[in-house]
Amino acid sequence: MGILDDVVINAKSAAEAVGKKAGQLVDVSKLRISVAEINSEISKRYQALGQYVYENARDSLAEDAEAVGKMAEIDELSAQLTALVKELGDKQNKVICPVCGKHCSNTDHFCSVCGAKLGE
Ligand SMILES: [Zn+2]
Repeated sequence: MGILDDVVINAKSAAEAVGKKAGQLVDVSKLRISVAEINSEISKRYQALGQYVYENARDSLAEDAEAVGKMAEIDELSAQLTALVKELGDKQNKVICPVCGKHCSNTDHFCSVCGAKLGE
């Protein structure tokens, strides 16, 4: 084998090594995306489970101080949200239908969507 052959073989090996390295990078990227996707799905399932427990199984956790504390935090945030939504509606001269959630004019007596009586 001549020097030229060695150069060709070395160049071929280098190209294969680069290709292999690139392939590994693609594999690593795909795996990282899969890990992130599955982590995201697990988080969604935890959230759905937490919401289910909050809405349907509160009483069964009455003895669990940590669960009661976390549910109280959600209660507090929900109260803040309700107050903010009402304040926002007031500032926009809107009243929110208590039945369907439609933003109606505060001069309306009944909801234009579901016909519920508006105002307090
Ligand atoms: Zn309505």
